[in-house]
Amino acid sequence: MESVIRVTNLSKTFGKGGKALHDISLSIAPGEMVALIGPSGSGKSTLLRHLSGLSQGDREQGRIDVLGSPVQVKGKLDSDVRQTRSKIGYIFQQYNLVNRMSVMSNVLIGALGRISTWRGCLSFFTKEEQALALESLRRVGMDAFVNQRASRLSGGQQQRVAIARALTQQAELILADEPIASLDPESSRKVMEILADINERDGKTVVVTLHQVDYACKFCPRAIALKDGHIVFDGPSAMLTPARLNAIY
Ligand code: ADP
Ligand code: MG
Repeated sequence: MESVIRVTNLSKTFGKGGKALHDISLSIAPGEMVALIGPSGSGKSTLLRHLSGLSQGDREQGRIDVLGSPVQVKGKLDSDVRQTRSKIGYIFQQYNLVNRMSVMSNVLIGALGRISTWRGCLSFFTKEEQALALESLRRVGMDAFVNQRASRLSGGQQQRVAIARALTQQAELILADEPIASLDPESSRKVMEILADINERDGKTVVVTLHQVDYACKFCPRAIALKDGHIVFDGPSAMLTPARLNAIY
């Protein structure tokens, strides 16, 4: 597979005149860690949602391929998009854990997508699945919290559980939409270090939207900048000079 993500001529119009993406084309290779940057409203979340098949682009235009399969062609979702989606770990700004469930239940049920009975839900999963969930939680430093309710965790801890959920899902591609926007600097650093570790050690492709350019430069070798739905920069994040950043923001 030469690219994990290939977007060709994708445009997205919301209602009258609201064009959020203008003829976007890009390609991301296996094992890359890419920051998607740009001002608020520039189209970062819209693009990420399209990559995971949660949104459809304008009709009769464009194409998205992810992990070797078409996600959408000319604004039509592929019939096998659920299969592709199951290989994508999606991380949200607001973590999207079920507050009243334990950390372990969140990881297992969230990752493996199975409905459980009200009680004794963990026995629903195999020993191997439970071991994988525990190993994933250990990886993000949350294995001491397996029985804790998600609602009792800090934001940074919840985000680390959300990453453990993606690891348990054995996602091949991680898409993270503003994963650190609600976190303090210390938690932000931790979450970015974990994402970078998954990228480096496991070789997983990571695409992360960030509005903090300093984190993008520190953790992501490549940056793609959007402005008003156009790609205005795509290259090494080290090349994001003050002058270039001034033109973007
Ligand atoms: P970012 O994530 O970079 O802040 P978004 O992708 O959320 O930007 O939004 C890009 C543009 O698309 C904005 O102008 C926003 O108002 C618009 N937009 C996003 N989602 C919708 C929607 N569901 N309906 C209408 N307009 C939308
Ligand atoms: Mg956004």
